[in-house]
Amino acid sequence: MPKRVLVVEDNELNLKLFCDLLRAHGYEAEPVRDGREAVPAARRFGPDLVIMDVQLPHVTGFELIGQMQADPVLGRIPIMAVTAYSSHEDEERIRAAGARSYVAKPISLARFIEQVEKLMAALDGDDAAKTPDPGEDPAR
Ligand code: MN
Repeated sequence: MPKRVLVVEDNELNLKLFCDLLRAHGYEAEPVRDGREAVPAARRFGPDLVIMDVQLPHVTGFELIGQMQADPVLGRIPIMAVTAYSSHEDEERIRAAGARSYVAKPISLARFIEQVEKLMAALDGDDAAKTPDPGEDPAR
């Protein structure tokens, strides 16, 4: 069974890029264009990982991450945030909201898939998922 990734992204080009990239790496990707659909789509699709654009119309990625974290079932799913923000404050805010990982736009495709695979590997493992990626240390 391929691992499932829910991709929440309002930008059509990015959405297609992320889904194509994930599928090329053997994942089942489910696109969500409207953030308001993200939580119901996550319940339906039952993803192993959620990729969350932070800048969305109608609802922010921060709010969606908070809603998922507060849910007993969805709260167990790791979230990788994708954002144009780059300051340490924003990065800390993303992590404080509960995202497990974070990739900045413009996206490096190699880094994107590397982070996805790291989170997926942690799913199969142990508490590795709870250990922050040293490469993402805000104190760096
Ligand atoms: Mn966006």
